[in-house]
Amino acid sequence: MTGAKRRNSKRHVDTALVELGRDPHANHGVVNPPVYHASTILFPTLAALESAENGTHPGPTYGRRGTTTAQALEQTVAALDGADKAIALPSGKAAMALTFATFTRAGDHVLVSDNAYGPVRMICNDLMEKFGVETTYFDPHIGSGISKLMRPNTRLVWCESPGSLTFEMSDIPAIAAEARQRGIKVGVDNSWASPYYYKPLDHGADIAMQAGTKYLVGHSDAMVGVLSAQMDDFKSLRHMADALGYHLAPDDCYLALRGIRTLSVRLERHQANGLALAEYFAKRPEVARVIHPARPDHPDHALWQRDFKGASGLFAVVLKPGVSHNAFAAFTDGLELFGMGYSWGGYESLLLPVRPEKIRSAVPWREEGKVLRIHAGLEDLSDLTHDLDMGFDRLHAHG
Ligand SMILES: *Cc1c(COP(=O)(O)O)cnc(C)c1O
Repeated sequence: MTGAKRRNSKRHVDTALVELGRDPHANHGVVNPPVYHASTILFPTLAALESAENGTHPGPTYGRRGTTTAQALEQTVAALDGADKAIALPSGKAAMALTFATFTRAGDHVLVSDNAYGPVRMICNDLMEKFGVETTYFDPHIGSGISKLMRPNTRLVWCESPGSLTFEMSDIPAIAAEARQRGIKVGVDNSWASPYYYKPLDHGADIAMQAGTKYLVGHSDAMVGVLSAQMDDFKSLRHMADALGYHLAPDDCYLALRGIRTLSVRLERHQANGLALAEYFAKRPEVARVIHPARPDHPDHALWQRDFKGASGLFAVVLKPGVSHNAFAAFTDGLELFGMGYSWGGYESLLLPVRPEKIRSAVPWREEGKVLRIHAGLEDLSDLTHDLDMGFDRLHAHG
């Protein structure tokens, strides 16, 4: 196993995606790590039981803490993130809630980017508030200006770059530098890029979070959250996960690990289709603005270019104002390839009307036109643009 690890650390990431977290010859030659279902794990000797009790037992100790199936996923994500350890959790939201619960206590203060995944506000405004933790939302463009919002009791800064609704980028290294001086933890929601295109820990963050539900699973069929961190922070997270009884079922760990094997090829296609669809929308007369960080016309394009290795398939489009509800419904309801639904990151294209003005609190959203969040799937590009052409035709017919 140590031999395998040494080999892995030298591999290119495309090879690592294939090689990490599996050991076929320890398992009858079967290529994929098996799904081990367990609550009870038996210890052959008193000494083995004692090693579980003092935390030195190398294998699984109890089902809730994960069988070898979870360990395979966790080792793989940790290696991709350049972290000591990772922890698999029942959803992306559980991963966010665990981070807040781990690093704060009553009387503390947290800073949360205004463009972060909307439901993070439920964690902050309902759960954490109830336990005496106060939240301040900040402008994602704040950079080192975040120092002005930091208080003696600030414990955590939560960022999402780019935000998965409005796609502003934050200067994570600048924010992390201010946080580090004051002993404040920085967590980054990295669901958009995945570690294939961005590694938050390499840019100063302490905790890298992913909704594995999105690109890791990649097939719209499982809920998964993952947190990666270096050893001390990981131990704190692991302890609080145990306190809360969090557990990701082995079948879902298996699906996430299987998705990871094709992450590189899927993301390359999501990126290509995303950029091509963004260009298509940019040329449509009905569109006021395309918001895609990998396009040179994005206000934060330079940050994306500096820190990211690529872009995923998720971006936004702002329509020109004045489209009636009926005309818009005619556009959406006849689409054959773009589904309307929550989440993203699967193989299929999605188009979701979103309302950032209802979520934002630090920086009001001022665009008047309807905002569409697009997930570019793996379909043929000309089929996708044809579907949209037909949609715009229906929109005008009902205008
Ligand atoms: C979906 C999503 C989450 C939450 O993940 P779930 O697995 O749905 O709980 C968190 N952050 C971002 C950016 C997301 O898109």
